[in-house]
Amino acid sequence: MRSDSQRLTRVTELLSSLVSLDSINPMGRPYSRSQPVERESIEFIEKLFAPYRNKVSLQRQTCSAFHENLIICFGDTQGCPVGLFESHIDTVPADDWRDRALVPVVEDGCLIGRGACDDKGSLAAMILALLEILEAGAEPPIPIVLLCAGDEENAQTGIRHFVENSHPDLAYAIFGEPTRLSPVVQHKGTIRWDIVVHGTSAHTCRPELGTNAILGMTEVVSALQTYQNRLQATYRSRYMTGPTITVTMIEGGRTRNATADECKAAIDFRILPNMDPAREFETLVEYLETLEWQISHSPLQLMTPALSTDPKLPFCQDLLEICHENVSSRVALRGEPYGTDAAWVSNLCPAVVLGPGDISFAHAIDERVALSEVAQAVEVYKQIMLHSFKSGFEESQVVIPNNLSDSVSDTMNSANL
Ligand SMILES: [Zn+2]
Repeated sequence: MRSDSQRLTRVTELLSSLVSLDSINPMGRPYSRSQPVERESIEFIEKLFAPYRNKVSLQRQTCSAFHENLIICFGDTQGCPVGLFESHIDTVPADDWRDRALVPVVEDGCLIGRGACDDKGSLAAMILALLEILEAGAEPPIPIVLLCAGDEENAQTGIRHFVENSHPDLAYAIFGEPTRLSPVVQHKGTIRWDIVVHGTSAHTCRPELGTNAILGMTEVVSALQTYQNRLQATYRSRYMTGPTITVTMIEGGRTRNATADECKAAIDFRILPNMDPAREFETLVEYLETLEWQISHSPLQLMTPALSTDPKLPFCQDLLEICHENVSSRVALRGEPYGTDAAWVSNLCPAVVLGPGDISFAHAIDERVALSEVAQAVEVYKQIMLHSFKSGFEESQVVIPNNLSDSVSDTMNSANL
């Protein structure tokens, strides 16, 4: 067993190295580098596990033109459910603090740099937990898979590619994201697309001869607000705020002296665990058809289910106990309004989001994480990897979306939408 100060030193060194490696996701913008976003980090992580090639297998997995995963397997994963640990390698851009974002600095016990808490703090802790187990010659009760995922920040192709192509048989899954080491058992799902209102252009000296798509969009925006209010009156959760529909971008019109023939709005629709994403999207599209405007919808940019793990599962209770012993007795199972990669396995196994750092620092200038919290995370992940979850995985206990436990006081009435 390493001393606390040894572990803290190691955490600081590893996290500094990871932060200094550029893994900025272009987020759909032009990408000029010749290798995948995650490649440099993957090469670095592969070297860390090189001394244990007789115990672990390493596999790079291409996810898209610019992104790849690294899958690290410890134990025989054939025919045996595995414990999945996932953290993502990519980060959001740092356009507004580019000069220092990739130069890690330690200040007041925190490491500052792009990705410090989202998501390299979790990534470093998961890597160190596995390395400590390998160094000690310990054997986890079930095989462990560490997925160092790509492209979480933009299209989530890393986790999707892993699930679709690796067909993992999962006993449980832990997703490292900044939760201040409180297990998040439920979070919202997300649907994103563009709504386009079509009009006809006419000279602005005779606007009555045209149909101004911008006016149509004001009606659409107002209708979306009404629809959101009705959804919020219908679906509630004790773990998070209600469903939301947010218009995030609008563009329309071509010149100053013509009515707009087209107006486009980007929509971000957040749903609760007891809402089916495909059905919710269809119902909203049908609702907008009642407006007297010609409306079309772009292909979906994103549609992810919500995370809906039953907090009463023995797995969740065991996790909570590990957190109580190693973090604080005040830690509780909770929900969040954001989405994570965990949603993509929520129908396959009990999945939980758990990691060091505070989400309020994620994506922000001078992103930071407390190094002591990352060191705590190493111990928490290690104990989970070594834990025998005796009775937590019977199929009957795995909750699938739309089948919430009565321990979750989500309420849903049959109000007609
Ligand atoms: Zn993240």
